[in-house]
Amino acid sequence: MGNRTDHHRYPSQVSTAENAPQVFPNRFADTVGSPSGEHDRDQCQCVDYSKTTRPVTVSFHKDTQDHAAAGWQHLQAVIDEAAADGRTEFAPFTGMSAVERRQVITLPSTITKLTAVTRLVLYGTNLVRLPPEIGAMTHLEVFEPYTSHRLHWYPYELTRCTKVKDSTVSTRVLYGNVKFRPPFPALRPVTHADQADFAELDPGVSGASAARTGSICDTLVDRELHQVWISRRVGTDVLPLLVNACSANCVAALPNPERGYVPTPHTGGPDIAQPAGS
Ligand SMILES: [Zn+2]
Ligand SMILES: [Zn+2]
Repeated sequence: MGNRTDHHRYPSQVSTAENAPQVFPNRFADTVGSPSGEHDRDQCQCVDYSKTTRPVTVSFHKDTQDHAAAGWQHLQAVIDEAAADGRTEFAPFTGMSAVERRQVITLPSTITKLTAVTRLVLYGTNLVRLPPEIGAMTHLEVFEPYTSHRLHWYPYELTRCTKVKDSTVSTRVLYGNVKFRPPFPALRPVTHADQADFAELDPGVSGASAARTGSICDTLVDRELHQVWISRRVGTDVLPLLVNACSANCVAALPNPERGYVPTPHTGGPDIAQPAGS
């Protein structure tokens, strides 16, 4: 984690900072929350933005969520509100202070209640991971984690949101992205029940903070946890997806990865050969 002070980027600066071919003029102007001089997120250099300076190995963010933090409590309340009023657009960070936004590094499992939401805006957050429960947001059509620069991977459960047709992801920070092919964190291929509590995993080791049910079959993970990476399209982006499977059979049942990416599910680490970047 660095201590740079120039990281609060406003929408008008984003296209320059990202060096992106697309421009999103004011598209997120209503979604950032009130501008503030205070830092609303942390920087990271996990995935370096160049072919020559990319790291050989990369590790998951170790951060754990502080459940007592005001930002987390605020987020829980906004989720309850959204579930109650059935809103279709959910931009939970809009009404938070910079301090509160910085305190939120994942989303709570209560997002399973947000089945009416069609547009999820996670613009410029401090998130380092999303929970598998996002797969319950099955009406999602528009997924916008744009400029959440610490989100380097997504849970495989996101593929259950089959209506997603539009996504806006900062792809250059993704593990295995086509431009710079940064590495994926190494996964332990099989974890036995006596080696870890699947309901309380170490996110620095496993990426996910829990794997209660299998990403593929959705049944209880109780004996073994099989983790693999697979790159698949979600909306308009190819994302590195973390699979928490209950068995080798479930891993074998995975669909083919997106063409142009590692052609089979894999366990990451420095020895995985990726196709050349574009
Ligand atoms: Zn990072
Ligand atoms: Zn399974």
